Amino acid sequence: MSVKVDPNLMKDLKAFGLKDANKCMQCGNCTAVCPLSTPESPFPRKLIKYAQMGLKDKILKSPEPWLCYYCGDCSDTCPRGADPGEAMMVMRRYLTSQYDWTGFSRRFYTSEKFEIIAISIVGILIGLALWIFHAGNPNMEHAYLNSVWPAPAIEIADIVMGTILSILLLSNTWRCVRFTMGDLLKKIPLEIYITQAKELVIHFITQRKFGECTDRMQWIVHLLIMTGYSTVFMLVVVFLAGGIHVIGLSWDKIMFQRDVIYPFFHPVRLLGYYATFAILYGTTYAMIGRLKKSKPQYKNSHGTDWMFLILLQLTTLTGIFIHFTRLLDWPMPTYVLYVIHLMVAIPMLVLEVPFAKWAHLAFRPVVLYLMAVKEKYKEQKGIA
Ligand code: SF4
Ligand code: SF4
Repeated sequence: MSVKVDPNLMKDLKAFGLKDANKCMQCGNCTAVCPLSTPESPFPRKLIKYAQMGLKDKILKSPEPWLCYYCGDCSDTCPRGADPGEAMMVMRRYLTSQYDWTGFSRRFYTSEKFEIIAISIVGILIGLALWIFHAGNPNMEHAYLNSVWPAPAIEIADIVMGTILSILLLSNTWRCVRFTMGDLLKKIPLEIYITQAKELVIHFITQRKFGECTDRMQWIVHLLIMTGYSTVFMLVVVFLAGGIHVIGLSWDKIMFQRDVIYPFFHPVRLLGYYATFAILYGTTYAMIGRLKKSKPQYKNSHGTDWMFLILLQLTTLTGIFIHFTRLLDWPMPTYVLYVIHLMVAIPMLVLEVPFAKWAHLAFRPVVLYLMAVKEKYKEQKGIA
């Protein structure tokens, strides 16, 4: 079988943030210390070798970038300062752009200017839409968001956005599946895909592989940000759909960040508090780490790493402010903050979920699940 070499691969990876991989002399120290590396998947050394040799197709098929959680142990022990942990992070960015059929992800990851302009444009469009479509006579006696932006209109916009994001993310995830599985995709019986489906759920919820790394604090921070964000995503994108009646439930009873002030121990309020704490703690920890460059994974910050943390923090902080202005029943500050909140939160959702860091949340458990499927298949076939 012929192997295609891409002479521009290193240059391309540099556009995604690769810096020192050329210093690698293939000693294998990084693979020896990596707690997640196995004899079958000797990463990160193997991936760096692919990059050095221009083996793009091999990288496209590699599950290893998704098996790495960036604990940084390998970078700490590299005698050449090749920063293999960062190389794996770069591979994840690169793969995300390869899975994305629109080409948007590549531009987002390779140009800070494009990233800032894209986020600003979406934010401004959201602000304009909220201004143009606001109701004529907002309630200025009480903080009542329904008087400015009626729930049915927000609900329709929410459903449209959720549908578009789902289509983009699912189609990119499907490409991830095809690249990772290659010819095996159709050869493996459906039964194995079904019986291994639990792996997908377990890896998504627990990120348990990360728990095998030595730096358990990073696992906790990762879990806090992931669960906090997923909770908000569920509350805002799923439950915001007010007025829909499903299985006898009225969703307007569980809408988040709208006009209903729930009792302190109401599940929606408690979930909101958990998400706020989890995201604020996780993002503040990561931001301080990046400023101080306190750990190997914080030494090289890509523009998208900062943007991700900043958007998450701003979304959370504006959400907290709205919570208090609603409790204090201050109409104007609530309406203004609501606009600012959506001008930050929606660009993050629209651009990060299908094209950037939040897409990793889908790709990683999917690839881990596919690895379990492959293993089961080999076990059944008696392949070593
Ligand atoms: S990245 Fe560093 S530790 Fe890993 S093989 Fe290369 S030189 Fe050795
Ligand atoms: S960052 Fe951690 S998990 Fe990733 S390759 Fe290095 S040692 Fe392994």
